[in-house]
Amino acid sequence: MKSFNPLREILTHLKYLQELGYSEVPKDYFSFPLLYRKTSETSDFGFEELLKRIKSCTSCDLHRIRKQVVIDPNFNNKSLMLIGEYPDREEDFSGEPFSGAIKETLQKMLLSIGLKKEDFYCSLVVKCKPPAGRLPEDEEITTCKNYIFQEIKVLKPKLILALGNLPVKIFYDEPLSLSSVRGSPFRYRNSMIIFTYHPNYMLKNPAVKRAIWEDLKTFKRLYEEIFG
Ligand code: SF4
Repeated sequence: MKSFNPLREILTHLKYLQELGYSEVPKDYFSFPLLYRKTSETSDFGFEELLKRIKSCTSCDLHRIRKQVVIDPNFNNKSLMLIGEYPDREEDFSGEPFSGAIKETLQKMLLSIGLKKEDFYCSLVVKCKPPAGRLPEDEEITTCKNYIFQEIKVLKPKLILALGNLPVKIFYDEPLSLSSVRGSPFRYRNSMIIFTYHPNYMLKNPAVKRAIWEDLKTFKRLYEEIFG
């Protein structure tokens, strides 16, 4: 279990306030439950309870500026799961993963293998939007990733399509690049995961389209083997 370091917590929080534009500490600063923050422990409960816990989560500083936690409320016994990285502005507004500009590109990708977004339970490694212009920090990823593991534990998806770098970071113990693991089935509990590039990355780097297509074909082959 990760050790708790109060000094590190306070410094991280001060840095965060600075990013938000504060030049001095707000007067209610010391009433924040800073010293009592906990990561989400794994325990046995159903999806509704998990959803409730995630929606009210304040385990990292991102909860202070989010409009809402971005999470798919529609479980409906889906056996397929999509995992993305972190919310953008549109997802922060809608509360729904993959609801922004990327939705159309993602839908096209999935339709190319005869599936659609609605076939998947959708989730993100980090569920609250970081401040504009920065990526989620390691501590935020480490805190929030527990929810992905709990979602998988509760929902038991058979097949997972993971998009972008952050999913690689949380499933592998060692630092590996997405390009080195993409397209190769990875087992986690009773789920098979295929990692591939995020559609946002593809829009900026069209050269990876072919690699994504290869990964999607592998995903479809596994899908047919499992559900055939
Ligand atoms: S990013 Fe994750 S851990 Fe942080 S407040 Fe949001 S739901 Fe909780």
